[in-house]
Amino acid sequence: MDLSTDIKYIKGIGPKRALALSKLSVNTVEDLITFFPRTYQDRTKKTKISEILFNQHYCVFGKITNVYIKKLSMNLSVFSAEIKDGSGSITANFFRKINPYAKFDVFATIKKDFKIDSFVHIYGMCEIKFGQKQVSVDDYEIVENENAVTENFNKLVPVYDLTAGITQKNISLALKLILNDMADIYPDIISNNVKYKTNLPSISRAIKTLHFPNSLQEAELARQSFALQEFLLLQIVLSKAKQKNAIKQKVSKYEIKRSLLTPFKNRLKFDFTKAQKKAINEIFNDMTGKKAMNRMLMGDVGSGKTVVALSAILLAVENGYQTAIIAPTELLAEQHYLTFKNMLEGLNVNIELVTSSSLKSKKKQKEILPQIENGITNIIVGTHSVMQDRINFKNLSLVIIDEQHRFGVLQKASALAKGNNPDVLMMTATPIPRGLAMTIYGEMSVSVIDELPPNRTPIETYCLSENIAYMNAKEEIEKGNQIYIVYPLVDESDKSELKSATQEAQKLSKTIFQNNRVALLHGKMNPKEKNEVMMKFKNKEYDILIATTVIEVGIDVPNATMIIIQHADRYGLATLHQLRGRVGRGQKKSFCILISDAKGQTAKQRLKIMTSTCDGFKIASEDLKMRGPGEFTGTIQHGFPEFKAGDIIKDVKLIEYAKQVAVDIISKDPQLLAPENTNINFLLNNKYNQLSKIINVG
Ligand code: ADP
Ligand code: MG
Repeated sequence: MDLSTDIKYIKGIGPKRALALSKLSVNTVEDLITFFPRTYQDRTKKTKISEILFNQHYCVFGKITNVYIKKLSMNLSVFSAEIKDGSGSITANFFRKINPYAKFDVFATIKKDFKIDSFVHIYGMCEIKFGQKQVSVDDYEIVENENAVTENFNKLVPVYDLTAGITQKNISLALKLILNDMADIYPDIISNNVKYKTNLPSISRAIKTLHFPNSLQEAELARQSFALQEFLLLQIVLSKAKQKNAIKQKVSKYEIKRSLLTPFKNRLKFDFTKAQKKAINEIFNDMTGKKAMNRMLMGDVGSGKTVVALSAILLAVENGYQTAIIAPTELLAEQHYLTFKNMLEGLNVNIELVTSSSLKSKKKQKEILPQIENGITNIIVGTHSVMQDRINFKNLSLVIIDEQHRFGVLQKASALAKGNNPDVLMMTATPIPRGLAMTIYGEMSVSVIDELPPNRTPIETYCLSENIAYMNAKEEIEKGNQIYIVYPLVDESDKSELKSATQEAQKLSKTIFQNNRVALLHGKMNPKEKNEVMMKFKNKEYDILIATTVIEVGIDVPNATMIIIQHADRYGLATLHQLRGRVGRGQKKSFCILISDAKGQTAKQRLKIMTSTCDGFKIASEDLKMRGPGEFTGTIQHGFPEFKAGDIIKDVKLIEYAKQVAVDIISKDPQLLAPENTNINFLLNNKYNQLSKIINVG
């Protein structure tokens, strides 16, 4: 057996459980020993029965003095055992569903274990009912006496993520069989390289400890040790890539000519805000500099990032280069395309839309692709379709990634590979902590647009009933304003949900809004239909746009002043904030109405945050608090190898430290050929294969 052995060969696992475990991405011995517990149950402390005062989880120990079975209903029975420990007594309950036709006895094991006069450890939820103490048992262990060695008591017990067909015990038992031997052969790259952090255990020690720690402190040190190894690997990949790029000079050279910039500025119906000007300056400085730009532009929804992007684009175009702006959805790409066409009308600039729909017909492909290749097309507006192999540029010098939080890291990397060390501008309304951004994107500069265009009044947000929301909507329409009504459609291919949005639209247009002009927009419509609807809505030919979340990002119709979000509880804070950002884009006062009948605590809390602030940065930090780092990092880490112990929010210090060590290693041994770096190579080839490949393309 070695690290790559299939887990089905481990005793007690077998093919069936192996299949279940593969749902948790546990396939090999290596996966299993690095499948760390989600948390630990503290069973180190025994509580005297007399000292159980609250309804909570306790460990108790005592002698079984009586057992009996009671039938509670047709199909529910309970096995009860009375336990005494000298200080008091408690009834341990095991509830079991009974199938009257089944032959086997659901209590067979319990009956066998719970013999009167035996001693037992119990862990479970204790309750005091009518002065009687009861515990519904999560786990128990029968022992000879109080001092006997225990398997699962008097210690911290690991809690693993589970899936159907797998129990905590399955995982613990399998680990107990293999952990000692296998952890010892797991490659360790920190013991050699990390000299100062002497309190951290070796990797093999850390792996063992993470599964079966003696204390939470010990577990935390072990976690840090393994995390450091993970970060070190990542930083080595990043430093290698950086080293490669450092040799490669940026090819493009720009000069601020203003042949396009000035006419563009003169056509705008507004002046740039101070924050926009500052961002544009920073971007131009980067672009005219020697090193390729790697900049993040952060600005809340509606802060005006698009015109900043366009300024950068025009600088590149007036110097004869091509640029690409990439959006996360087709609808947004199409909208950008129209906005750009509109804003640049009359200027000598060629813009092309590149999405999977725009490239569908062979004829279109034959027309568009050569123009991009010959450099006739100056600006390519598109989705990730831009990154396809068959699309070749003549001289792509600037890549802009809009709503970057929607993209995975790998997708970004492959976009960059299209140009010759191009300048990169990423735009986002969802800020991520700086330390974190640096980890993921490397050395990156940040521009912040911290003011909204003038004369914007903050959007007012309310939770209302549907009827009252619609009454308000009618009032808005009478004032000549337009309305969005959004229906949740988590998955655009879900036919039943789509049907409900469509039916609802029909119903509303025949009842309450029968005198208004109502349109429907969803992701399953073809692009031509979608654009037609958007265009007509923009031209005020509709009063109400009933839409799915296809309108979530980027859509810009300043005359829309109210957005009604149905089933608001089904969205996360980030999405709600983005949706709300569809209104309040002009000078008119705007409203966001959340409709929800959710009773859940988190849903309520989310809606409360929404009604209390419009500040995207505040919302992002609340989001982080509420969801915890796990989910948050999941989204931004999309496309990255997942960290098993590392936490990119909590471990910023470790990451910085890993970075130093990585630079040190790479500067001494750039190709990692030295014998002491064999382990690094082994792990890189194993885990970071895909990432190293793509980063190395650049
Ligand atoms: P986001 O940052 O969310 O991408 P947009 O770039 O779509 O925001 O801008 C939102 C709206 O504000 C657009 O209608 C845009 O034309 C307008 N806008 C941008 N900058 C200004 C400004 N300086 N003054 C007035 N309106 C502006
Ligand atoms: Mg935008």
